[in-house]
Amino acid sequence: MLKRHYMISLIMVISTLFIVSGCSSRSAVKDGNNGKLQIVTTFYPMYEFTKNIAKDKANVELLIPSNIEPHDWEPSPKDVGRIQNADLFVYNSQYFETWVPAIQKSVGNEKLSFVEASSKIHLAGNSSDNHHENVDPHVWLSPVLAQKEVKAITSAIIKADPKNKEYYQKNSDRYIEKLSKLDRDYQTALKDAKKKEIITQHSAFGYLTKEYGLKQVPIAGLSPSQEPSPSKLSELKQFAEEHQVKIIYFEELTSPKVAETLANEIGAKTEVLSTLEGLSKEEQEKGSNYITVMQKNLDAIKKSVID
Ligand SMILES: [Zn+2]
Repeated sequence: MLKRHYMISLIMVISTLFIVSGCSSRSAVKDGNNGKLQIVTTFYPMYEFTKNIAKDKANVELLIPSNIEPHDWEPSPKDVGRIQNADLFVYNSQYFETWVPAIQKSVGNEKLSFVEASSKIHLAGNSSDNHHENVDPHVWLSPVLAQKEVKAITSAIIKADPKNKEYYQKNSDRYIEKLSKLDRDYQTALKDAKKKEIITQHSAFGYLTKEYGLKQVPIAGLSPSQEPSPSKLSELKQFAEEHQVKIIYFEELTSPKVAETLANEIGAKTEVLSTLEGLSKEEQEKGSNYITVMQKNLDAIKKSVID
């Protein structure tokens, strides 16, 4: 009996070895297979920023489906597997993709780098006492801070694949030039704003409005799921009437019901102001991207503060 048990365990050890060596030869094939970096990114702007730096020298994947509001999204075991098999994992902030620190502790892939694009940016809000919901992670919506995120992602990509440093740096510089132009367009268009306040669906535009001297008045909190109380709503209504607000902004990925109700009550129109928390495949195929959506956002904001 003992002997037989011994044999069985030996067979198990050997077959385990086979599986292990099978795995490593597969990953060798993966590395040799086009020799590209595998990069997983969380939501749309992280994907676009990364893609514009890496272009065809990396396989860049989008993890969170582009039609899903990412604030309350959480990864499935399969998603964790995709992250685990990557060389780089690019996300915006632990205050946005709040599930990342837990994954970072548990993954067993030493060559995987976690790239927090906002890590060099001072985030607004209070992060003490674990009140993470008070920290504003929406930095990508400022064309100025977006450039800082692109620079952070560029450094990480170059570190992972130094032999293509010049290629990545050139792509990055070119994309940053587009973001600088976007910033100049915002500055020029908004410097003569007659009004300051814009009423948004959730509190996503704090960095953007601060950059250009405007003021965001949000209906919901830092996450779209933090819905306003009836008293907050009547305050908003009073505010909108006093400031003769003509437009209430809503987003594409969350229900516009509250924004519509408020607009109806004060006789205002509704208009899309995209948070870029997602960008549908259809929109991407039509040529929409971060820059074009931000240009549309500028047109939409001008209707409130200039026209
Ligand atoms: Zn948001």
